[in-house]
Amino acid sequence: MANQAILEMRSIEKSFGAIQVLKNVDFTLERGEVHALMGGNGAGKSTLMKILTGVYKIGSGTIRIDSQPVEISDANDAKRAGIAMIFQEFSLIPTLTVAENISLNREPRIGSLFINDRAATRKAKAALEELGEDIDPGTLVSDLSAGMMQMVEIAKALSQNAKILIMDEPTASLSEGETVTLFKVVRRLKASGISIIYISHRMAEIFELCDRVTVMRDGRATMTQPCASLTIPELVDSMLGASSAAAFTWHDRQVTHTGAPLLKVSNLSLPPRVRDVSFEIHPGEIVGLAGLMGSGRTEIAEAIFGRRPPSAGEITIDGRPVTSQDAAIEAGVALVPEDRRRMGLVLDHTVRDNIMLPNLELFSKGSIVNDRGAAGVVRAMIDRLHIKTESQTKVVRLLSGGNQQKIVLSKWLARNPKLLILDEPTIGVDIGAKGEIATQIRELADAGAAILVISSELEELLSVSDRLLILHDGRIAQTIQRRDVQSEEELHHAVQGHFIAHAEDVHASR
Ligand code: ADP
Ligand code: MG
Repeated sequence: MANQAILEMRSIEKSFGAIQVLKNVDFTLERGEVHALMGGNGAGKSTLMKILTGVYKIGSGTIRIDSQPVEISDANDAKRAGIAMIFQEFSLIPTLTVAENISLNREPRIGSLFINDRAATRKAKAALEELGEDIDPGTLVSDLSAGMMQMVEIAKALSQNAKILIMDEPTASLSEGETVTLFKVVRRLKASGISIIYISHRMAEIFELCDRVTVMRDGRATMTQPCASLTIPELVDSMLGASSAAAFTWHDRQVTHTGAPLLKVSNLSLPPRVRDVSFEIHPGEIVGLAGLMGSGRTEIAEAIFGRRPPSAGEITIDGRPVTSQDAAIEAGVALVPEDRRRMGLVLDHTVRDNIMLPNLELFSKGSIVNDRGAAGVVRAMIDRLHIKTESQTKVVRLLSGGNQQKIVLSKWLARNPKLLILDEPTIGVDIGAKGEIATQIRELADAGAAILVISSELEELLSVSDRLLILHDGRIAQTIQRRDVQSEEELHHAVQGHFIAHAEDVHASR
């Protein structure tokens, strides 16, 4: 195998001042491999990649490409070595065309004066076709979707003869359709011998796409394994250490269904997709809503939050109908939305303002806000959720995704909601924050709140839910107690429409 390696990093060390952030890291990338790099925030992933791309100088250790030792001291060295990074914040120039971006800095010239537009267009078209993408090279980059921009970035890297692509959270800003396209392109690149380092927090993606995974923790590479021989709990353990991994272990919570349900959804229809959906959630119960993207999950969440009027059916909280968002909030419903950047946060406001935003009336008399009370609540939330921020007045945009999500959560936790709906609560959130969010969900339910969790990450649903609703094509196809689900595969099949056979209580809990 050794001579298959396109990249070998050996005994890499790196310190910033007195702080050592990479400790004796070994990393090997095989030719044509998709290799996941995982680990919590601050584990050292970006630093390792920045050494590879010439952003940071290596402390000590060696890098070999195709068995040849290389020195990478700047971006040009990296480019020459065939290494390219596909940036999360795209590095394209929006006011230039696709072709101009792909040829940037190396425009084909006639003589040495004029940029040869035709050649640049031809080159761009060829590079995009290689990816199976049909994007007009004359389009302005500012007119492209996030997914298309990423394709142009990849095409640009390939046209510069990159052999190693580094993708950092490549699906973070993509739609579902764009994610599918990206996966196709990654497989195509792999088949053509390109090697890929894939940084992501999304377990499902790693298992679907990657050949091997290397886990980093506290500046060390703690594990490298083929994905096929690895289970999610093993992966979580190696990222967190066994003690924190306990946050992901499901345990039977024995919820009583004797009293009245807190939430009752009856024969709900939300055209065009959701039809005749009925279910209940009791106080203290955590219900997971599982379904494919586009199965109607978010629509149901929005309807319960009073944001989406149903064409038929009824939603009641404590027996009282929910008819508007104000009524829902009044009744104690809180929604942590799927797109936190768009709907959950004001990115240019401070941590404190964001947490207080929905809660102002709790701390104000007339128009006077009780500052001390507010600061106390915000401090308590920062402590409770381990939000990493230097101060309450830091602008939210500057925090990591995991910390942003914790702030969305704390906005609503501060109200002690009776029903908390979480739509994809851990998208873009690192593993440590995921565990903390799971713990918060359980604590809130233990204190008597009803919880509805929507997630595409099935292992996440399995780790917190007492009961699962399986949504298929806009209908609830099955209701099953968590304890009756034997494996993630089983739930995966159920979500695809092959239902779990031994569910005795399909209708019992409705
Ligand atoms: P990851 O990408 O896995 O989240 P990073 O490589 O970004 O981790 O960070 C690893 C550690 O190195 C963190 O503790 C971070 O604070 C520190 N670090 C990263 N870059 C710098 C820098 N330029 N100066 C000082 N410390 C840094
Ligand atoms: Mg990073």
